[in-house]
Amino acid sequence: MADVRRIQVSGGSDGNAEGGNSAYLLPDRGVLVDPGPPTESAWDRLHDGITAAGLALADIDHVLVTHWHADHTGNAARLHEAADATLAMHAHDAPLVADYAAERERRLDRDAATLERWGVSADQVATLVDFDSPSPVPDSVPVHELTDGGSVAGIEVVHTPGHTAGHAAFVLDDVGFVGDAVLRTCTPNVGGGDTRQDDPLTAYRRTLSRLEARVEVARPGHGESFPLASRVAELRAHHRERSGRALAALAAVEPATPWALAERLFGEMTGYHVKFGAGEAFAHLEHLRHAGLVSRVDDDPLVYGTDHDGSMDPAEAGVAAWDSEVPN
Ligand SMILES: [Zn+2]
Ligand SMILES: [Zn+2]
Repeated sequence: MADVRRIQVSGGSDGNAEGGNSAYLLPDRGVLVDPGPPTESAWDRLHDGITAAGLALADIDHVLVTHWHADHTGNAARLHEAADATLAMHAHDAPLVADYAAERERRLDRDAATLERWGVSADQVATLVDFDSPSPVPDSVPVHELTDGGSVAGIEVVHTPGHTAGHAAFVLDDVGFVGDAVLRTCTPNVGGGDTRQDDPLTAYRRTLSRLEARVEVARPGHGESFPLASRVAELRAHHRERSGRALAALAAVEPATPWALAERLFGEMTGYHVKFGAGEAFAHLEHLRHAGLVSRVDDDPLVYGTDHDGSMDPAEAGVAAWDSEVPN
């Protein structure tokens, strides 16, 4: 059994809805996974955790990061620098950290254009863009790009898109460091957390199957470890049910933008919930579109209508879409 130390790098007042961030130290391999948010308190906790394991910063050789979100990457450049360690991420997410300043500008432009295409009003989009504050991290840092099936210090890289396009899990024996791909209590957002994905929910279905095939014990980016299989079953059940609700809601209001559908499904949303809600509705609509149950009526903004023969109740048809085969 691999020696793994969990370091609670944030929590309480600086934690988010998922709970504080968990970093993982593998002392035998000189590896640190997900060093946490860019705050002094997280840095201090990280440093204390490494010291408590009897290591110095210089003993860390590799910093692995599951995905580009700031609560996971925030301390990565600082640790890379302080420990003279390599910093590695999946190739699809690496640029958002490697070229942070320029990519942040691109991301904000892309998010704004995407949200408007999803039917969110220009006013709400402007509020959201204002809400995104820059992280106190270097404008650029060298990041080693990983691909699926690769490895670092004997730890396998598994590409797990859905929450972000370049989300990766790191697998050692039957333990998976799964970042935000699978969380113990929250349902990871699929669709709103990274606007680069065309069909995030289909990608996420594949991710759940790939993790299920490899991992028994999940070490998540937030909170404590848990058995993976039962949680994957719960997440599938959640999305299956929501898929049915999404199709039934669309049938009631069609034609509709992702945002209009999100308001129907989730009620009033403010702040970043606008992005997560619209993104989740978009993810379900695209998944249903690929199952042949909805079609695009318009392209900008995106407008969807139901596209089934009426022989089945929409809620049941939506559920059935989730049970269909996923192309590999
Ligand atoms: Zn995340
Ligand atoms: Zn997170």
